Amino acid sequence: MQEASWSEVAKYLEIPEDSVETAFFAKMTNEKLKDTRSKEELKAQLKALSDEELTSAFVPDVYQKDIYHIDYRRLRENGIKLISFDVDDTIGDTMLDKLKANLPMLKFTLPDKAKRLVKSLREMGFQVILMTNGQEEIGAGAYQQLGADGYIYRAEKPDTKNFELAMRRYGVNAAQMAHVGNNIRQDIGGGNAAGVTTCLVRNAGKSEEFGKFLLRLVGQRSKGHYVRKELKKRKLWFKHHQHFSGDQYYQLSQMPQYLEGDIKGLALWQARRKSVKTAVVD
Ligand SMILES: [Mg+2]
Repeated sequence: MQEASWSEVAKYLEIPEDSVETAFFAKMTNEKLKDTRSKEELKAQLKALSDEELTSAFVPDVYQKDIYHIDYRRLRENGIKLISFDVDDTIGDTMLDKLKANLPMLKFTLPDKAKRLVKSLREMGFQVILMTNGQEEIGAGAYQQLGADGYIYRAEKPDTKNFELAMRRYGVNAAQMAHVGNNIRQDIGGGNAAGVTTCLVRNAGKSEEFGKFLLRLVGQRSKGHYVRKELKKRKLWFKHHQHFSGDQYYQLSQMPQYLEGDIKGLALWQARRKSVKTAVVD
């Protein structure tokens, strides 16, 4: 049997050749974690993954406090033409949004600041869409309010099928698309597997944070929590690296300070950087 070359895999997955290795590992990782039911099973499966698999699947290209701190000019310089945004807890507040979308007396509204952002992104020449795992009311509501170019609901991230649909629909390839979201498993896991530039932001929703706080009290954690814990344990990435003040946020191609002097971490980071499509802009 003949082995497929990376360029053949790239062609098959319809992603740029320079990001195919990362996307391939990310896709395999998502596949392995797909049917995980219990937390114990997830923990064991995460433990069994290689450093490359974990890094490829879950380390984002950009990590920022919120959608307003992402350097979109830099995305533009990197050749990005289409940006998809997750809605729940990325732009709005999940629990409140769901309530508002389902109760006729409440109006589902997103912040004016987000409307201004989408407007300015479109003026910069980006196509902007929403990609939510939520119901149609959330996708359509956000689309109308933000004046976006389109929306995809029940996207089933981290499955890559809707990233691929978006690329086809808006006529871009993976090197020209960025995805922004708050969920490391769904948004980053899916985006990395699709070969697009991924931007992780902190939860925008206060009600979600409160919900998680309540769950924590009874010993429940989100699946993303275990992913971050495993990354942190192996020193592959820190979502909340409080111990490294001033280095909470970074942009494309910038090495996080915590990797200084860490040979293994640095090598993995550089391997991950291979998927960044253009040279470092200083
Ligand atoms: Mg979300």
